[in-house]
Amino acid sequence: MKEITLPRLELQGALLLAKLAQKVKAVIKDRLNAEFYWCDSQIALTWIRGPPTKWKVFISNRTQQIQPLTDVKDWYYVKSASNPADLVSRGITIGQLVGNKKTFWINGPEFLVEGDYPQDQIDENRKAPEEKVKSVSVATANVTPIDDYIAKFKYHNSFKKTRRHFALVKRIIENWKAKSPTWKRRGISNKYLSGAFTPQELNEGTKLIIQIMQQQEYPTELAVIQRGETINKGQFEHLNPTMQNGLLHVTGRLSLAELPLTHKTPILIPKSHPFAKVIIRYIHERNFHCGLELVMSEFRWTYWMRNLRKVAEGVINKCVKCARARPRRLQQHMGQLPRARVNPSSAFTHTGVDLCGPFEVLLNYRSKTKTTAYACIFICFSTKAVHIEVVENQSSGAFISALLRFTSVRGTPDTIYSDNGRNFVGACRELSELRKVYNNQATMTFPRRAFQTSL
Ligand SMILES: [Zn+2]
Repeated sequence: MKEITLPRLELQGALLLAKLAQKVKAVIKDRLNAEFYWCDSQIALTWIRGPPTKWKVFISNRTQQIQPLTDVKDWYYVKSASNPADLVSRGITIGQLVGNKKTFWINGPEFLVEGDYPQDQIDENRKAPEEKVKSVSVATANVTPIDDYIAKFKYHNSFKKTRRHFALVKRIIENWKAKSPTWKRRGISNKYLSGAFTPQELNEGTKLIIQIMQQQEYPTELAVIQRGETINKGQFEHLNPTMQNGLLHVTGRLSLAELPLTHKTPILIPKSHPFAKVIIRYIHERNFHCGLELVMSEFRWTYWMRNLRKVAEGVINKCVKCARARPRRLQQHMGQLPRARVNPSSAFTHTGVDLCGPFEVLLNYRSKTKTTAYACIFICFSTKAVHIEVVENQSSGAFISALLRFTSVRGTPDTIYSDNGRNFVGACRELSELRKVYNNQATMTFPRRAFQTSL
């Protein structure tokens, strides 16, 4: 059980007294000239005289009851020595009670008889316990640019939204300046901005974002550069950073190149800042979810970042749309290889043929007239030997001539494989007709070996 403190008990007693006095006053009514309430607890008196809202619930409830019943100015402090109640609360021997304290106990303190009432007031500003702790909400605004507002706004996860956000902040400031009489007095008159953001405002928003990113990640280096010194150490080695228009730019070795200034001295983007990935994702999405090389090329047109390839690769790999659109290769079961490919045989016994070209060639060594030609390639299936013949066009006749030259050198193949090119199909048909004529008994005037073609 929670123990009630002595000042609280004193307050309870004061409340009891106030209620009792109320009843007494109701009886004696007009015969009452003045009221005096004494209490030997300064803390309880401070509670009674103070506003109830100042105290905790227990104290506040009781003082709220006491104050309507009595006038707080009638409450006085009395020393414990003049309080007969203390004889009981502090303890007293029987001898003392029937002896020298008898009158005090029965008649009360002497000032009641004499009429010289103690009217000791308490200090108004006295501190008392059980004061309610006030909770005060204080809004603080730190205007130093080192605060990472971009990281706070990373829930946007969108370059466009954040850029508009900062463009709006800039516009509000500009509009405030336009309205401000101080600025007008200085002779600086701005136009009041409204409506859609202009490209210039959006660029200002982007600049503000990058400025905060750089201040967040490179505070020491910025301070050094702003002092006019140069840094060529650590991660800034070879970068030769310079301050241009409030932003940190990288000065490479392209100063003399005839390129736009943004390309020669790109803006330095800190790779460790979370918004760097948002910028890369914006470039990737703006270019219709393009690949790594294009993202890097677009990025480097204006910005420069350490380990760009690695960061950009990570961003593209995490792109949901790209992952959904990425085609999955079919895993086909390969068929059996043909017999001619897997069994040993003489060179060009089984031959594949195809044309490649056209190529521009001179008609002869000294001629300046150019014409087109094709290369007819014969490949042995088993040895992978290659024989190349030149053909002047894609006709069947030209192929048959090339075949004749080929067979003259390499011998007649058992099988020739080709695609369904017109020249091959035509040559096959012509050779088949020739075989029919050659094998026809009516045309045979003397015995000869049977002519076979298998094309
Ligand atoms: Zn994508």
